[in-house]
Amino acid sequence: MFQLHNLLVSFPKKITEDQCEYCDAKLVQDWRAKNSFRLGQNRPYCPICSHENHDQCKCSTCEEQRREALIKEENRKKNLIREHYNQKNYEKKLEENLSLEDKLFLSVLIRGGLDENLGHIVPIWTLDNKLTPSNSFTIELIKTLAGRGLIVPHSNSSIEAFVDDETFPGTYYVDRVLYRININSLDNNYHNMIERLMYPSQGEFEADKDFCFNMWKKIALNESIEYLLYSFNKVGFDFNPGEKTHKVFENLLNHYSVAQVYSIIYRAVANSTKLYQEKKMPKKRAANAVITSCENFGERAIAEGWKLSKFRRDYNLPETVISKVFFTSILKIAYIGFEEKPTPNI
Ligand SMILES: [Zn+2]
Ligand SMILES: [Zn+2]
Repeated sequence: MFQLHNLLVSFPKKITEDQCEYCDAKLVQDWRAKNSFRLGQNRPYCPICSHENHDQCKCSTCEEQRREALIKEENRKKNLIREHYNQKNYEKKLEENLSLEDKLFLSVLIRGGLDENLGHIVPIWTLDNKLTPSNSFTIELIKTLAGRGLIVPHSNSSIEAFVDDETFPGTYYVDRVLYRININSLDNNYHNMIERLMYPSQGEFEADKDFCFNMWKKIALNESIEYLLYSFNKVGFDFNPGEKTHKVFENLLNHYSVAQVYSIIYRAVANSTKLYQEKKMPKKRAANAVITSCENFGERAIAEGWKLSKFRRDYNLPETVISKVFFTSILKIAYIGFEEKPTPNI
């Protein structure tokens, strides 16, 4: 083998007519040995710099040029993002015009995702603490604020946060961009405003009982469905909650707290899992049966006025930012938001 190898590399090379585009040299080609054990193609290459005449060449000059082209392209895209999302393109909204919903959502977003030096909101997907109990609620929160122009993608957002198509950088992933707070403060002091936005006043919210009641129900519904999906996941059921599921749990929450709905779900999932494991029911039907079972049980419990036990929060489903902000920081009722049924008399 050793000898054969020596023999092969000592063959003279065939000189081709092609010129290296980097050196003053003609490309050469190894003579293809009969029964060659060399893998790969026998391509002409430059005897000085090893360049090969095709766009996949791995010579150091080509690699360097590719690196430079990549950096150039990245800079071009970064500049596009910087121009497109420049502050001067966005008229700032006024702090005094913020609605209660704006204030609640902003407080959640700022407390959950504002970076240390108050510059911007970090990408949502990087957060350890969930902003709300469900992805759809979190997306709704972001889209509501973005739709009202209260938050705007930050010009320092990474290239990957934008869809790479002809609209670049016009389309962005809501959970990947950095956000800038696009609001003009009452007192021309950004830091004071951030503090006000982080800690909205209790009185203001208490004055609007309808808003608080509806928001309580909404958070409770999302927490119930979060627990339902978590329970399904634990027993290996696949389930996508639809309109019916929402209706069932909305109804239950008219009578029971999230802590009690947890116990209803727990019982229903345990029963369905048993039926499934005893092969009395296929998996998909067992999952659907959970919803029906919650509904039936709930209706009987309501009709007969049962007192249901209250579960604690599950260790794996810690309280989300919106619940902490709304129940503890704003309404100052803390765990009551979880342990009592939603009520308009807050
Ligand atoms: Zn060359
Ligand atoms: Zn090359």
